[in-house]
Formats: sequence, structure tokens, C-alpha cells
Amino acid sequence: MVRGRPNASTCDHNYPTLVNVRETGSHSARCLGCLTVGPERPSSVAAHEALKDLGMRNGHRAVATHTS
Ligand SMILES: [Zn+2]
Repeated sequence: MVRGRPNASTCDHNYPTLVNVRETGSHSARCLGCLTVGPERPSSVAAHEALKDLGMRNGHRAVATHTS
């Protein structure tokens, strides 16, 4: 039963996310909008941000907040 689910290439991952923790301690966030799984990160917060960062690169005009 899939209705109106955004596609991974258009989703900005601005949806609730599920964070999975692996045995190795790395975290990965899954977007509940499109079910994309983001990159693994050492913390749940970082995993969430990494997933959002993926969405920003999907053709959206990125609002760069990185200070690197
Ligand atoms: Zn998404």
C-alpha cells in the first residue's frame, strides 16, 4: 500500500527518519518518505544530518551551512 510516496531522486528527506545502529556502533538514518538510507555516521545526529545532506544534493538548491 504505497500512496504518494516521494521518489528518492526528488525527496529532500524532510521526513521523520529511523536511525539504525549497527554492531560496529555506526548509525545510519532512513528517510520514512522515500526509504533512502543515508551514509553511516558515528552518531545518530550525524547520521540524520548526512541523510538530509544527500537530499540537498538531489537537485535542490543547497543552502550551504557547512563551515569547512
Ligand atoms: Zn527521503
